[in-house]
Amino acid sequence: MTTIQPLLIYNTLSRTKELFSPLHEGRVGMYVCGPTVYGEAHLGHARPAITFDLLFRYLLHQGYKVRYVRNITDVGHLERDADEGEDKIAKKARLEQLEPMEVAQFYTNKFEDAMNALGCLPPSIEPRATGHIIEQEQLVSEILKNGYAYESHGSVYFDVEKYDKDHHYGILSGRSLENIKDASRELAGVGEKKNQADFALWKAAQPEHIMRWPSPWSDGFPGWHCECTAMGRKYLGNHFDIHGGGMDLIFPHHECEIAQAVASQGDQMVKYWMHNNMITIEGRKMGKSYNNFITLPQFFSGSHPLLSQAYTPMTIRFFILQAHYRSTVDFSNDALQAAEKGYQRLMDGWKKLQRLAEGQKVKGQPMVEMSVVDQLRARLYDAMNDDLNSPIVISNLFDVCRTVNTLCDKKASIKAETAQALIELFHTFAFDILGLTEDTASGNKAREEAFGKVVDMVLERRQQAKAEKNWALSDEIRDRLSALGFEVKDTKDGYSWTLTK
Ligand code: ZN
Repeated sequence: MTTIQPLLIYNTLSRTKELFSPLHEGRVGMYVCGPTVYGEAHLGHARPAITFDLLFRYLLHQGYKVRYVRNITDVGHLERDADEGEDKIAKKARLEQLEPMEVAQFYTNKFEDAMNALGCLPPSIEPRATGHIIEQEQLVSEILKNGYAYESHGSVYFDVEKYDKDHHYGILSGRSLENIKDASRELAGVGEKKNQADFALWKAAQPEHIMRWPSPWSDGFPGWHCECTAMGRKYLGNHFDIHGGGMDLIFPHHECEIAQAVASQGDQMVKYWMHNNMITIEGRKMGKSYNNFITLPQFFSGSHPLLSQAYTPMTIRFFILQAHYRSTVDFSNDALQAAEKGYQRLMDGWKKLQRLAEGQKVKGQPMVEMSVVDQLRARLYDAMNDDLNSPIVISNLFDVCRTVNTLCDKKASIKAETAQALIELFHTFAFDILGLTEDTASGNKAREEAFGKVVDMVLERRQQAKAEKNWALSDEIRDRLSALGFEVKDTKDGYSWTLTK
């Protein structure tokens, strides 16, 4: 057995890979920013969900007890930025004449269906912002008490300048307060805030605003950044291991979360900040204005002008895992077709590998030794331990498929014990850790039909060989099909075949 190397993860805060060591032995607390539930789940949701599912699965595989919290934002995420505009969910509710909670529940269900389809394990806790108004009000009170916030017209704002004097605002994103102020200069001097860089902790609701709660300051609602600090603390404690999300959340959302934690409890809450990179579609940022906004159900059904066919959830998962989580990923129909082929090749390799469970001895051909499996195991763990390098894991699994093909071509031998070890290792990495599943509904019926027709064509050739009494060819065809997993039976009327696992 190889020794398991320690896990390195890239910490956005230190901008280096750090050795992972949990705050509490054997236990890991992990918080990931979840969706704002006012529309269908799309690719932008799939990437963080799959990235942190990979981490969740790997930590579980390493034997940790993981408490994985992913929130549902159902209030406070306003349209233009964190402080201005209409609440996204309230707007949808107004347009569709629904209760805001009806909108939130509808899209939460849709989101969870899509995540299940993508093979993401459900988090341990999925708290909703509206279910934690009291905790958020407490957080606001603490920040006010410590002097890092001020009240203005019933709203409460975080005093960024005051905080920056004592601490550093911009520590996560690498910005200075001066840069931040420069970037927002044209908007300066607006309304209730002392400084444009200040952000809302509590907003007084306008009379027409339907989502509102009583508070010491006004009838209103919490600022968007509050929920993650309040709920992270409630479920994972004042200090926890990992906080994740997409890179687009680094500023302002996660920067504000750090400031809120320090301003309320005196120190930082999170040890490792992890961020997945973004997704582009045909080289452009995904957005409704570019007409390239593709929802997950549209991928699964193929109903979007940019898609020539349906793609299974596993193709999407495989495609995302083919890139390292800190690299950008560009989606296109061609790239997805290539991913579909790659994923099928991997699953075909897996089917063939299982058929080698008893081992095989081919005279005069070299033996696949156990040391090959041991080296492969070491490479797979090394890749995962180096900041979750899933593309390297996948390329090693393809190496297994090549070895399997050599074995199927009877160009190598393998002992049953070695074959079993290889099967177990492939299963662990492809299914338990990468979270792939065998896609029975491959989504491409036409291809499956064509596949069957090819087998028939080959067997008709065999019938012809038999008619010509060419027994050698007839046997060869049967044996080679059998090696590929097709069981051929001669019947009264000709032949029949089945694909055995
Ligand atoms: Zn968040």
